[in-house]
Amino acid sequence: MKTWVPDARNFAYLSWKQVDALNRDETLLVLPTAAVEQHGHHLPLATDTLLNNFMLGKGLALLPVEMPVYALPPICYGKSNEHIGFPGTLSVSATTFMAVIRDLGSSLAASGFKKLVLFNTHGGNAALVDVMARDLRAEFGLRTFTLFGAGGAVFEGLNPQEAAYGFHAGEVETALLLSATPELVHTDQYTVNYIADVNKPELLKPEFSSANFAWLTRDIAESGVMGDPNPATAENGDKWIEAAAKRVAEALTAMYHYENRFRP
Ligand SMILES: [Zn+2]
Repeated sequence: MKTWVPDARNFAYLSWKQVDALNRDETLLVLPTAAVEQHGHHLPLATDTLLNNFMLGKGLALLPVEMPVYALPPICYGKSNEHIGFPGTLSVSATTFMAVIRDLGSSLAASGFKKLVLFNTHGGNAALVDVMARDLRAEFGLRTFTLFGAGGAVFEGLNPQEAAYGFHAGEVETALLLSATPELVHTDQYTVNYIADVNKPELLKPEFSSANFAWLTRDIAESGVMGDPNPATAENGDKWIEAAAKRVAEALTAMYHYENRFRP
């Protein structure tokens, strides 16, 4: 898979002797979690994995060289059973996904590391990542952090409907990939579909509210798209990746400096 992570920030490029020389109390490791799943007619299966790496790599490049932050190789397969039925979707179960994170947390604790960030870019993983962040803290004493997507970066020029319900293969993902890997975007294959409407707040929501409906993509989005890719431009993608990278760098910096009040 293509990578934007600077070589000097790539944990798996180190030898064990180089790892042994790292300050375990300070070093912040980032475990990317993403997906390989359908992204409509126009985007590749690896969209969430590519975008994870694009945002993380660009964010890491903004950190001062002396700050010890490293990217682990990503968990590319996520819990994507909402997209099963679309050819190419490769999903793992919640228990498998959580078991892999637990085992990696165990390995990192055995190597003496203390600080781990779970950096997730697939909505279907989000609840599991939250559970595992707390479990790794409780079971291995790791100081764990979570970061989702662009970390709350504001994407200027995005309309409220797309910001709220451009969930999947919509304007944001399309624009960012037009910036990252334009050769993988089929701009003549766009489809449009929204699964909720910001102007009808009385209706049930797909997620992120107190009254939701559980959705499978094939129930609500025939092409697999939830959003509108049409307004996406590479120019906005370039601007938005800058905003995302800045926010990722700020979050990683805050995590690097974070101290628990009573216990390390
Ligand atoms: Zn996606």
